[in-house]
Amino acid sequence: MQTSTIEIEDVYKRFPDGTVALDGVNLRVEPGEFVSLVGPSGCGKSTLLRILAGLDTATSGRVSLNGHPPRAPQARQEMAFVFQEPTLMPWKSVLNNVALPLELRGVAAQERQARARQCLDLVGLSGREAAYPRELSGGMKMRVSIARALVTRPQVMLMDEPFGALDEMTRQRLNDELLGIQGRTGATVVFVTHNMFEAVYLSRKIVVMTPHPGQVAAVLEVPEPFPRDASFRASELYGRLVYRVLQILEGRPAPALPVPGGPPAHGAEHGVPA
Ligand code: ADP
Repeated sequence: MQTSTIEIEDVYKRFPDGTVALDGVNLRVEPGEFVSLVGPSGCGKSTLLRILAGLDTATSGRVSLNGHPPRAPQARQEMAFVFQEPTLMPWKSVLNNVALPLELRGVAAQERQARARQCLDLVGLSGREAAYPRELSGGMKMRVSIARALVTRPQVMLMDEPFGALDEMTRQRLNDELLGIQGRTGATVVFVTHNMFEAVYLSRKIVVMTPHPGQVAAVLEVPEPFPRDASFRASELYGRLVYRVLQILEGRPAPALPVPGGPPAHGAEHGVPA
């Protein structure tokens, strides 16, 4: 049986102070899928992402990336993490910031610079290689941060509210760019956001989480094909999905829907009700 890229089974996370951040979380992410974790502050989105990244561990349950535990060297090679802050080195040029993960892996200078250039091209920053972070706008810094994540050619990108600090227009532009990048690289993306509009626009699957303790309230599939463009934002489907996410977050029950091909996994909804 082929394994999913990411498998999360019955994950429970309790911090030493007694806070239960995650309780009974199950999720599978297939290769090349774009999955968002959406929900209010404190519902455990970042904790789940950090456990996937191997930056923290579950108290109980099982997590794997391509069949390996997140802290295994194979898993670490295959994933990259993008934080809300671009966290660039101010004394390094844009090119050398992007090349840094390869430098840390001992890749020769010529190759790492060539690969960094390719990634800067992918995020639309060709020509800015010699610039320093202080010369860039917030949106450009985030593009550099994404290029730096791409430079190791990860199969999985874990993104923790990467556009949360940007203005709405920049966020929407970067949403489109991220979809383009994902289409070209085929990477699997797990994307944390508290913005339900962004979650619907980007995702193939939306994992709606609720707090106290952090649980998966529902998994919504977004049946809009890729590539997507801004016209999706004006569609009825988009509006209904955003409304559905809101309803779930407000604790309104999900309607029982017949699902083609058999019953859904626990909590899953396929498509959206009228
Ligand atoms: P989100 O990303 O959805 O805002 P978090 O994963 O950051 O949520 O947090 C989930 C819950 O766990 C919250 O109640 C938060 O206060 C708590 N929490 C997060 N990190 C720690 C920690 N290191 N120690 C104790 N509690 C924590």
